[in-house]
Amino acid sequence: MQIEKCKHPTKCDFVGCSNIADYQLSTKGLLKRELAFCEKCLKEMYVEIGKLQIPKAVESPFKLKKRLNKEGR
Ligand SMILES: [Zn+2]
Repeated sequence: MQIEKCKHPTKCDFVGCSNIADYQLSTKGLLKRELAFCEKCLKEMYVEIGKLQIPKAVESPFKLKKRLNKEGR
């Protein structure tokens, strides 16, 4: 599984997002189709994953984190 730059312009797969996708998750057949997403959604996804999988020894380099905490979810 790897995330790579989109080769063909395609719309972001996230509901409510109308951006053009910059990246795609290449799963080599593990998903029914490849998931395409824009940079914004990639970041949001990364933050969500970060909530579940917190790298222990590594402090998050993202200033984003502070801002997201204020959203209070
Ligand atoms: Zn998007």
